[in-house]
Amino acid sequence: ARAQAMEVDASPEVTYEDIGGLDEQILEVREAVEQPLLDPEQFETVGVEPPAGVLLYGPPGTGKTMLAKAVANETDATFIKMAGSELVQKFIGEGARLVRDLFELASEREPAVIFIDEIDAIASKRTDSKTSGDAEVQRTMMQLLSEMDGFDERGEIRIIAATNRFDMLDRAILRPGRFDRLIEVPVPELEGRKRILDIHTESMPLADDLDLEAVAELADGFSGAEIASLATEAGMFAIRDDRTTVEMADFEAAHEKIDVGGDDGSGPSI
Ligand code: ATP
Repeated sequence: ARAQAMEVDASPEVTYEDIGGLDEQILEVREAVEQPLLDPEQFETVGVEPPAGVLLYGPPGTGKTMLAKAVANETDATFIKMAGSELVQKFIGEGARLVRDLFELASEREPAVIFIDEIDAIASKRTDSKTSGDAEVQRTMMQLLSEMDGFDERGEIRIIAATNRFDMLDRAILRPGRFDRLIEVPVPELEGRKRILDIHTESMPLADDLDLEAVAELADGFSGAEIASLATEAGMFAIRDDRTTVEMADFEAAHEKIDVGGDDGSGPSI
């Protein structure tokens, strides 16, 4: 069960240079996750506890997973990912056991970055916490918090969680000693979109007169993931037209094709 529920990457390849428009967030992640891993003595000397856990929040596809992978890469740490939804299990005690496995694996693979995506699956405010399913989810969350209590903040394991549903979160997990460093990862502004486009068109032969700034303007409201597919789709249009350079018209056609109107992650609107 361990193998299928967790994604383990001994050396993720994502670097900070691959991430566009999140310079401030990169700095914050480096300070909260990288520094304590690389130089725990400094925190000891200054008498400061590093954040226990870092929470990245923002819309889907904005680079939260990339940030967690890049920090693992930079610190030569093992990246261990688990989706919160995987922790919601049918049988009593199974979610808690997976949490224990997760931390056990991390301690075998130190230094390690544990990344829990969709943390809201096990830590949302619930109106009806009396039903048994919810009690089980609650126990899983308690297990996670107790594992976090059990390790030294200055140690070799760092924990990052992510959510698209910050509004849904049980505020109890944000208390000191828990996920006490919040980093917002928003949809990119124009400048950020331009950077992300640069990154995702780096190996594309672009027409000489193509203005990526204009493409970035066209992509208003797009997440990083949507910009990545915009570039791919534009490339596909060029190929369909049997051209070897990608033109503005290709990006326009790609823009038409990609539906972002009111995208809430639930798929194309009908
Ligand atoms: P989710 O909340 O849906 O899990 P996420 O915020 O973790 O999404 P990522 O998995 O990091 O998003 O991003 C998905 C893909 O989108 C990346 O592999 C990358 O190709 C592209 N992407 C997203 N954000 C950025 C960015 N800021 N810079 C460059 N590429 C990006």
